[in-house]
Amino acid sequence: MADNRTEPVVVIGLGRFGSALALELVSRGTEVLGIDHHPKTVQALSGRIPHVITADSTDVEALRQLGVPEFHRAVVAIGTDIQASILTTSLLAELGIADIWAKAISDQHGHILARVGAHHVVAPEHDMGERVAHLLSGRMLDYVEVDQDFAMIKTRPPRDIVGVTLREARLRSKYGVTVVAVKPEAPPPGTPRAFTHATAETTLMYGDIILAVGTIDALER
Ligand code: ADP
Repeated sequence: MADNRTEPVVVIGLGRFGSALALELVSRGTEVLGIDHHPKTVQALSGRIPHVITADSTDVEALRQLGVPEFHRAVVAIGTDIQASILTTSLLAELGIADIWAKAISDQHGHILARVGAHHVVAPEHDMGERVAHLLSGRMLDYVEVDQDFAMIKTRPPRDIVGVTLREARLRSKYGVTVVAVKPEAPPPGTPRAFTHATAETTLMYGDIILAVGTIDALER
């Protein structure tokens, strides 16, 4: 299976949302192709996003020439120009991109984006760009920034804490991370597969899903 953390992403529209998203992905080592039709926008980002190109994403030939059909993941981060956003999304769907994320600026816009082929529609602006980057980065199943530097994540337990109790794993003293809840892959017979509070005696298994809180840096580690 492809590794989500490194699989390239094409980001179309490098306004506030698109540029935040693209830069966040680049900083975590994901290859990004950034596209915007505004030369000045492209120029301003050229030092920070290694592959960034001026093009009109509503031009299917331009998308082909840039190799966009080779990508499995794309983000349409055009908001204000709803027509360009919808047309671009539908072209990406036609080109067979497997995982299309698109930014909506209204419910109706989001509804249309889903109808024309977006697999994920996101609504908020800059903050959401960072959040989507975390979700795209693969290890985390969900991510909620609770405060500027504090977050809760849903993820699978890393290998080195599987098979030992949380007391023995000493995540809080070693990394500053607290596991608050666990959804076991194999709950005891007769018990639903649901999140329960973690205790010091909880032992994590492969396939479990955990909720953990801590600073963003601590969680990344
Ligand atoms: P934000 O609020 O995140 O800044 P905007 O909708 O204002 O979002 O900006 C979207 C970006 O998409 C702008 O930088 C704009 O130049 C770019 N854009 C708009 N239409 C196209 C298009 N057809 N092709 C490529 N880029 C586009």
